[in-house]
Amino acid sequence: MQHDTMQHDIVIIGGGLVGAGLACALDGSGFDVALVEAVAADDGAQPRPSFDERNLVLADASLNALTALAVLGHLRQPPAPVQRIHVTRAGDFGAVRLNANDYGRAYFGGVVVARDLGQALESAVNALPGLTRYCPAQVRTLDCGADHWRVSLHSDGDERTIRARLLVGADGSQSFVRSALGIGSETIDYRQTLLVSAVGSNRAVDGQAFERFTDSGPLALLPRPDGLYGSVMGVATDQADAVAALPDAEYLALLQQRFGGRAGRFTRVGKRVAYPIRRVLAKQLVAPRALLIGNAAQTIHPVGAQGFNLGLRDALCLAELLADGGDPGEPQRLARYAALRSEDRERTLAFSDGLARITANPGFSMHLLRSLGFLALEHLPGLKAPLVSGAMGYRGWVPALARPA
Ligand SMILES: Cc1cc2nc3c(=O)[nH]c(=O)nc-3n(C[C@H](O)[C@H](O)[C@H](O)COP(=O)(O)OP(=O)(O)OC[C@H]3O[C@@H](n4cnc5c(N)ncnc54)[C@H](O)[C@@H]3O)c2cc1C
Repeated sequence: MQHDTMQHDIVIIGGGLVGAGLACALDGSGFDVALVEAVAADDGAQPRPSFDERNLVLADASLNALTALAVLGHLRQPPAPVQRIHVTRAGDFGAVRLNANDYGRAYFGGVVVARDLGQALESAVNALPGLTRYCPAQVRTLDCGADHWRVSLHSDGDERTIRARLLVGADGSQSFVRSALGIGSETIDYRQTLLVSAVGSNRAVDGQAFERFTDSGPLALLPRPDGLYGSVMGVATDQADAVAALPDAEYLALLQQRFGGRAGRFTRVGKRVAYPIRRVLAKQLVAPRALLIGNAAQTIHPVGAQGFNLGLRDALCLAELLADGGDPGEPQRLARYAALRSEDRERTLAFSDGLARITANPGFSMHLLRSLGFLALEHLPGLKAPLVSGAMGYRGWVPALARPA
């Protein structure tokens, strides 16, 4: 069917967690904004990629922003607060204990199930009066005009073209937009797969999160809003299928053996979902009248719980830079976006990648260094504070909506 070409100021491609977050942040900006998403949110057979069972730790900065954007109010249950964090490394001595009260805070962040946050964002986006949505609609080609992009959309055999003065690629790790813009990427395969599942324990979930590093990958237990733990078990990718297929009792026994008794005795386990882990970094963030945010810009190891938090800050930064109106795709604005995002991006990448590599290295000298590092962190509070504030989302220039109220 033939459609008239719709003209927009800004087209966001990808309505995942970050693209939807940007749509919310642009509400009231005065720009004509469109959001294009390939997968219908309520398609049970093929859910939207990130609206799934993974547990997301929302950093303090993200909680501030999602509250200000009226997204958290759409959650069925509020995020489960993370008040204390206990970090250990199998085979090393020492442990790091972090307590939010020591930093004058009630919590470091909060845990939500990604599916629930996705639904809350979907409700928030549905309530935006000025937003045009194309969903389900997949972007198939991009053509650059003198002062706009032409975007062709495909939906159930239907083709249409829309135009925009600024194109935002929020289309995830395998970003079509990134390739179509000719932006290269660097990929590291960590050869690790994370198995995620909800786990019941005979000990009540009480604001305590556990992180344990082992030679075959990280383990984490996160307090969930439903009173269960969100468990994450890292395994070598070539063993992932076999571990994921273990009967429940054997899976629980393995988890218990690797975790020890810190969080009590595990009593039941839900469905397991496997995530092979790769880092994918775009070599640049901007192109003429276009830029990348979220996983399209950088997909990082989940070990530090930073990926969505960082992507949301990409979105908030862009929305703030667009607040003064004018031509949304002007080169100076895009250059400013790249400059403002650089420190947060570099430091967050270094934190996540460093954690993934150092904690997985089994060499003796690394054991010793790590143990000493753990002891230093535990006993020198001055060392913990910058680490904590960074992990809470305060690195470099912080978007206004993410700052504490
Ligand atoms: C196991 C695990 C645990 C994690 N834990 C945390 C955590 O605790 N804290 C945290 O901050 N982060 C965490 N993350 C990272 C976080 O999930 C991601 O950073 C976040 O989901 C990225 O969102 P996104 O919107 O950028 O990309 P995506 O979620 O991939 O969304 C991209 C969207 O674009 C759409 N799309 C793609 N191509 C097209 C096209 N051509 N046309 C139209 N639409 C298209 C897709 O359908 C999709 O909906 C975790 C990740 C994993 C795997």
